[in-house]
Amino acid sequence: MKLFDTAIVGGGIAGYTAALTAKNLLLDYVWFGEEGFGDKLRFSEHVTNFPAVSGNGAEFASLLQAQMQHEKVILTRKRIDGVYRTGETYTLSSAGELYLSRTVILATGVEAGGTIRGEREFLGKGVSYCAVCDGALYRGKTVAAVLSSPAFEEEAEYLAKFAGNVFAIVRYPADGLQAENITILRKRPIAVEGDDRVRRLVLEDGAIETDGVFFLKNSVPPDALAFGLETEEGHVKVDRMLKTNLPGLFAAGDITGRPYQYAKAAGEGCVAAHSVRAFLRENIKK
Ligand SMILES: Cc1cc2nc3c(=O)[nH]c(=O)nc-3n(C[C@H](O)[C@H](O)[C@H](O)COP(=O)(O)OP(=O)(O)OC[C@H]3O[C@@H](n4cnc5c(N)ncnc54)[C@H](O)[C@@H]3O)c2cc1C
Repeated sequence: MKLFDTAIVGGGIAGYTAALTAKNLLLDYVWFGEEGFGDKLRFSEHVTNFPAVSGNGAEFASLLQAQMQHEKVILTRKRIDGVYRTGETYTLSSAGELYLSRTVILATGVEAGGTIRGEREFLGKGVSYCAVCDGALYRGKTVAAVLSSPAFEEEAEYLAKFAGNVFAIVRYPADGLQAENITILRKRPIAVEGDDRVRRLVLEDGAIETDGVFFLKNSVPPDALAFGLETEEGHVKVDRMLKTNLPGLFAAGDITGRPYQYAKAAGEGCVAAHSVRAFLRENIKK
């Protein structure tokens, strides 16, 4: 398996700037994310506080896209579902596919709604963030899938192939969701409850009995993605050079804390890539 110098996780402005800087520093990088620099950037109404940008998010994204093409920055359109330290390197998984890297830059942003009560407590005991990874464990059972946007409907339909019943909890019309065993509930989730495992999902006006709850959203809690990562109030704990408590793992952008701003995210993406180079020089004498 190819060993990369750095794997950058997150397709927003922090991840993009990290990839651009890594490329300019001649690092052998792989950058994971979705096309378009993320919803937060694309759907911003008016950007007035980023150098040389004056327009809406879509215009900002098209400027970035043009630069990305000109500079030949390569995006790998995959979602990473786990980052594991394996000896001196990191293994990243994406729906069963594995990637190996000496270092990692996490730039996965933050989810506006945060987490609900019981979500973290029952992680691995019925709570999951990845339908493709854990869906098969629920063959014939009842599961709830809390979808943050239509982008996750495919994952909910994937779950429906295994589960007996799927309750899709949504805050939007969800007309596209299709499977006989999916029940759509337009309600706000309040809490996950259970004993040694998940037993129910409490909604704003009642509860559903369920064997598992899948939270399908853009940014999962960072320590659920990278095991052993130290966090503080939901953000990754970093120093000035964006080092985390895990050697060779750096973090950049909203994930490291406020202010949530493009300029701060871009700056941190750049610093994180420089920190990767310093780390490799020190540890691998590159
Ligand atoms: C409506 C709105 C308007 C805003 N307007 C402004 C503004 O005018 N000026 C300003 O400075 N800031 C603004 N912000 C804040 C700004 O959007 C954020 O600070 C910035 O986008 C943070 O960039 P980021 O790269 O850290 O994270 P994000 O932009 O959140 O990008 C993270 C990306 O990583 C992806 N990702 C997450 N997990 C994974 C994974 N496991 N594998 C692969 N990819 C993954 C996500 O899908 C997402 O695309 C606005 C925010 C919102 C919501």
